[in-house]
Amino acid sequence: MSGLVTVEEARRSVLSSCRPLGPVQVPLSDALGLVTARPIVSGEAVPPFTNSSMDGYALRAGDVAVAPTRLRVVGVLMAGDDPSGMVVGEGEAVRIMTGAAVPEGADAVCMVEHTRAQGGWVLVEEAVGPGTNVRRPGEDIAAGDEVFAAGESLGPAHIGVLASLGVARVEVFPRPRVGVVSTGDELVAGAGRLAPGKIRDSNRPGLLARLRTDGFEPVDLGWVGDEGEALADVLVNAARTCDAVISSGGVSVGDRDMVKSVLDELGGQQARWWQVAVRPGKPFAFSTLPPRSTPVFGLPGNPVSTLVSYELFARPAVRLMAGHHSLERPRLPALAASDMRRQPDGRLHLVRVTVKAGPRGLEAWPSGGQGSHQLRALAAANGLAFLPDGEGVTAGEQVDVWVLDVDRLSP
Ligand code: AMP
Ligand code: MG
Repeated sequence: MSGLVTVEEARRSVLSSCRPLGPVQVPLSDALGLVTARPIVSGEAVPPFTNSSMDGYALRAGDVAVAPTRLRVVGVLMAGDDPSGMVVGEGEAVRIMTGAAVPEGADAVCMVEHTRAQGGWVLVEEAVGPGTNVRRPGEDIAAGDEVFAAGESLGPAHIGVLASLGVARVEVFPRPRVGVVSTGDELVAGAGRLAPGKIRDSNRPGLLARLRTDGFEPVDLGWVGDEGEALADVLVNAARTCDAVISSGGVSVGDRDMVKSVLDELGGQQARWWQVAVRPGKPFAFSTLPPRSTPVFGLPGNPVSTLVSYELFARPAVRLMAGHHSLERPRLPALAASDMRRQPDGRLHLVRVTVKAGPRGLEAWPSGGQGSHQLRALAAANGLAFLPDGEGVTAGEQVDVWVLDVDRLSP
């Protein structure tokens, strides 16, 4: 299959070839960012017992309906103390700390700020209604509650909730292991001297970092020259050890561009190659490889194209494999803070933009040079602006953006 297709068509085709990975049990400490594969039902209540939400005095609300009132202090309960045997009788109070169990007989807690200690007595200066400053068992979570549905992405608060329930292991979709290989005779890895005609490999470190940021497990597959057999070896191996593979470079129509032919050879009927109606990121190859139908994304080599193409195709597909339901970033309306003009060419243009949250909502402007080799403007950007085919937008008009880094929205 070939020819000019829309981003949506190519993405639909890719997604239809990907499946969520088989669920696994992981310790709670490894579950951050993973997606639940089945509902989680609580086996216990949180809080587990009636406890005080304030430092103060546990008492009987009926005793202090008229304030001020003096009560006899019959004990002290710290957080963690066993309250068994302690009883608050009529005209009595127990000194109590936040989180300590409310003793038998008491039905309210008066804040210490509204009391005055007087030897073995306490003067309660304010009336307190029944239930005041008392947290009931199960007020957060009752035993038997479905706390999280299947398909929930586990964030820090989720991890806290599961810890509060004593959950030690969770059934989740595993973190996809994604291999990354660079192709190109011109590439040099690392910091050595650059021989004439050579450049440094920036795509592989950039993609590995991107994968980590997105919550996947990056696997460095190294670098191969523009030579089909070496690439085929790497891909055949990676198809067994990784859940997905990303290559960059060698996917266009140059004489040495061999990714397409290698994927044709290894993937057979599954291999696809498109000219996508988008800029940057036009050439794109995809196949699944035996024995496990491992998806392989053949991304273009220009550094900006690589990362944009990753956003368009690889990221949503790997999210699907990780069990996520929301695959794409939300497209948010922003105000163009400067002109973003373009020529009609039948393609969607994705402009590297700085997006800031201002008084009028989101505002966006180009972050620098827009050549697909100018990676610095992508580093300076925290978003991509969508300019559909046409003349672009002028300052003050609306433009849709993907925010790539929410933390950099602050002015
Ligand atoms: P290609 O898609 O192989 O034709 O490469 C397009 C452009 O991207 C060429 O200028 C390559 O030198 C450059 N390029 C390819 N791979 C990399 C890489 N891993 N790091 C930096 N630049 C690259
Ligand atoms: Mg190349």
